[in-house]
Amino acid sequence: MLIVMKTDATDADIERVVQIINDLGFRAHPMPGATRTAIGITGNQGSVDVARFESLPGVAEAIRVSKPYKLISLDLRPEKTIVRVGDATIGGDELAIIAGPCAIESRAQAFAIAEAVHKSGVKFFRGGAYKPRTSPYAFQGLGEDGLKILAEVREAYGLKIVTEALDEAGVDLVERYGDMIQLGARNMQNFSLLRRAGRSKLPVLLKRGLAATLDEWLLAAEYIMAEGNYNVVLCERGIRTFAQHTRNTLDLAAIPAVRRVSHLPVVVDPSHGTGKNYMVTALARAGVAVGSDGLIVEVHDQPERALSDGAQALNLKQYDQLVQEVRAIHEVVTPAAVG
Ligand code: PEP
Ligand code: MN
Repeated sequence: MLIVMKTDATDADIERVVQIINDLGFRAHPMPGATRTAIGITGNQGSVDVARFESLPGVAEAIRVSKPYKLISLDLRPEKTIVRVGDATIGGDELAIIAGPCAIESRAQAFAIAEAVHKSGVKFFRGGAYKPRTSPYAFQGLGEDGLKILAEVREAYGLKIVTEALDEAGVDLVERYGDMIQLGARNMQNFSLLRRAGRSKLPVLLKRGLAATLDEWLLAAEYIMAEGNYNVVLCERGIRTFAQHTRNTLDLAAIPAVRRVSHLPVVVDPSHGTGKNYMVTALARAGVAVGSDGLIVEVHDQPERALSDGAQALNLKQYDQLVQEVRAIHEVVTPAAVG
């Protein structure tokens, strides 16, 4: 159920509703909005008695939610969520670009790429320290040493660090060195990991699973939010289909589809979405044109020597060109045109 408060409801009115929900043994999720606060209820097995809330001061209405998800929904928060990462945002007016190598390979590599990312005016730096590789014999990342390099990059350039946690212990480490927890496609339904990220203070970038439906993806976000972390950004990174001309099939229709049901920001990953360097810029342009809130893109100073995902990495020159082009496209894509 969802309790919608009146526009003029006071803090005490909201607190009273929260208290009653807690007393019933459920969890209250107050979501302040531009015009009103709504309070989501989770933890209830059966239905909650509407009459219990409707007559309380400050309550406009109590709505039964028939959809499988509650907290990600526009019913709870009609305006878009803006996820704040320090002084940077995802979901606001500015196009959020997250750029960097697939994996942190060395200090020199990370700094060469970070220098270019910083110069381009982009605020987020990506780079994996723990890599989920198909083969156990492939480069697995530098581990904590990689995170230490990322922390140095943050210190040197003020870039916000987005990096993947493969497991719960990894979340502890990302909390120590990073700014945003990336949960990868292969872990989209790792429910204990989702719950752990839900108890973190850091925002979460939740990549769509390799074969996940829209509802499964949104429910994975719901797991994080149900634990109290409302700073979730969805990432479309392509799904597995019969097509063989790309590594994955980038499902750009997912962007307006998410927008229709959820207030959460959504970004596009044209790198994993195609797997091929020559397609990345084209699909990045398209991702911005369909109304995504940003991009996550792999860049390398020497793509031919990359230890992972070299085939899809842009070189620094291609990266600069991409940033210019997608910013120009973003200028002419108004939210109203894609909503
Ligand atoms: C990555 O971002 O490098 C990555 C492994 O992505 P995904 O989980 O989408 O495959
Ligand atoms: Mn990668």
